[in-house]
Amino acid sequence: MAERFYVNCELKPGPVLVQGAEAHHLAVVCRLRPGDAVCLFNGDGHQYPARIEEIGRREVALEVFSVESPARELPFRLDVAAPLPRGDRAQFLLEKLTELGVTTFTPLRTARSVVHPRETKLDKLQRHVIEASKQCGRNVLLEVRPTMDWEAYCRAGELPARRILGHPGADWTRADAVSESRCDTVAAVGPEGGFTEEEVALARATDWRLLDLGPRILRVETAAIALAVLFG
Ligand code: SAH
Repeated sequence: MAERFYVNCELKPGPVLVQGAEAHHLAVVCRLRPGDAVCLFNGDGHQYPARIEEIGRREVALEVFSVESPARELPFRLDVAAPLPRGDRAQFLLEKLTELGVTTFTPLRTARSVVHPRETKLDKLQRHVIEASKQCGRNVLLEVRPTMDWEAYCRAGELPARRILGHPGADWTRADAVSESRCDTVAAVGPEGGFTEEEVALARATDWRLLDLGPRILRVETAAIALAVLFG
């Protein structure tokens, strides 16, 4: 399969000019040459087989010759929310959630969370989403949303009706969850220090179902990935 490249512009059959960092990436980093076949995507749900026509100093001219729409998305929405783990583990989390077809990721601010990413950090996470999408073939990008307080998130009007919260020791177990139907879902986990009792009470009051993921305490990213596997 031709190498996949993300471009931040409209795509359709015919000539397309790629500029800036993306052109540099194609020409210098990947050493592509005129005549080489590539596959472009911009997150609009399609992918665009193309050929390199000309490589300039600051731009690369390509010819898009078809549009493909492979079904690689989940047939429902799956939102995930979690306090961001530190360092590389945040990158790992976003990469795996992208591979698993998750629709949106919202970093949570909770009483005991420690990492509260700023805009620049969120942009970086979105770059990891793009890298993962290149590799796994997704043509719709997982959307990294701005950080939200747990309370505001629980009270947000637009959450899917099925809300699942990872909670060690809850009555509802993985074995129960596998027989659930597939539908729009939001899954959340707490910080390494756990949710406070008030935060769990708020979840119960706003229709979250608490789910036990087994007898070991999982790291934030493991718990979030496990929920994405169970409900994806
Ligand atoms: N010290 C905390 C654990 C935090 S682990 C405590 O004992 O509660 C981080 C988050 O991952 C938790 O808030 C929970 O949402 C999720 N999690 C970790 N292990 C889990 C398990 N076995 N079952 C369900 N959720 C789990």
